[in-house]
Amino acid sequence: MNRPYNFSAGPAAIPEEVLQQAAAEMLDWHGSGMSVMEMSHRGKEFISIYEQAEADLRELLAVPANYRILFMQGGGLAENAIVPLNLSRGGTADFVVTGGWSQKSVKEARRYCSAHVAASAQADGFHRIPDPATWQLSAGASYLHLCSNETIHGVEFQELPDLKALGSDAPLVIDFSSHVASRPVDWSRVGLAFGGAQKNLGPAGLTLVVVREDLLGRALPACPSAFDYQVVAEHASMFNTPPTWGIYIAGLTFQWIKRQTEGGLQGVAALQARNVAKARLLYDAIDRSQLYVNLVDPACRSRMNVPFLLRDESRNEAFLAGAKARGLLQLKGHKSVGGMRASLYNAMPMAGVQALVDYLHDFEKTQA
Ligand SMILES: *Cc1c(COP(=O)(O)O)cnc(C)c1O
Repeated sequence: MNRPYNFSAGPAAIPEEVLQQAAAEMLDWHGSGMSVMEMSHRGKEFISIYEQAEADLRELLAVPANYRILFMQGGGLAENAIVPLNLSRGGTADFVVTGGWSQKSVKEARRYCSAHVAASAQADGFHRIPDPATWQLSAGASYLHLCSNETIHGVEFQELPDLKALGSDAPLVIDFSSHVASRPVDWSRVGLAFGGAQKNLGPAGLTLVVVREDLLGRALPACPSAFDYQVVAEHASMFNTPPTWGIYIAGLTFQWIKRQTEGGLQGVAALQARNVAKARLLYDAIDRSQLYVNLVDPACRSRMNVPFLLRDESRNEAFLAGAKARGLLQLKGHKSVGGMRASLYNAMPMAGVQALVDYLHDFEKTQA
């Protein structure tokens, strides 16, 4: 079956092999007589799925032994509250605001702690990342939050800041929802990373948290037990029923990632190489055209989410209709920025990006 190319920002495309395997196992998982959705989360079948998924993720992202992997619920937005409930100690937390998602994070954190904006790119229309040397870090901050890939504004940290070198002892918290597993993570710079699964790992409903062990056990008394990282870690993500189906599909996705190869590379390194090539193909096509424009500083353009505008906005509807007719789906931009957005997550093959680039070219020619 030839499926269309889906450029949705999330929930987003899932590798076809993963969907096929899930379909084949839907009624009877490995001779158990049950669908994964029907299994007890404490039964040996599901425990084996869970343990394999955790081990594969640890390997793929090279998560060090002193970090815990938690499978939670609530999505990235719930983490905007869960992180301050766990880490702020009611004190001050610093935020670097580089787009719509980090903006939301500060707003939510204000309900639980004193949230200080250490740097913001809002005045620049979120088209660049403020130089870390200019960040106004608070003395004694309980953590610093940033969104390492801004899904709406298309801005990505190509390198995470070294807070120690900036004179801060605060742990770095990253929201990596929309580029997790698209590139390696420098754990030496990260205290906690969180992300919803529905961009790059699987279905909505699963939230991944990777947290350094020394950050456990700091939750405010008001923190719900199900959201207390220490409680969740002590119960191996089974304090309450975890999102079993999401963990299963994410686990199949981890296996798919492990099988990927590119120019002698494997796993996340292979995907990174492919993602670099995919992003370059699309940005080059946009930059060369007279009709399309991406306003983000090339030094911090996202490999995953490529927002672009048509210089003639009256052509937007025609552009989207023509794209759909060619099997290029969900290219409409986020309502807060308008225009278009192509999300090039891991599951988007090079052929899909090539098909989009061909369409950009053909559509522009019809406008002459
Ligand atoms: C999608 C997204 C979120 C929100 O996730 P929900 O699952 O809707 O709560 C948060 N942060 C980033 C960077 C995202 O891309």
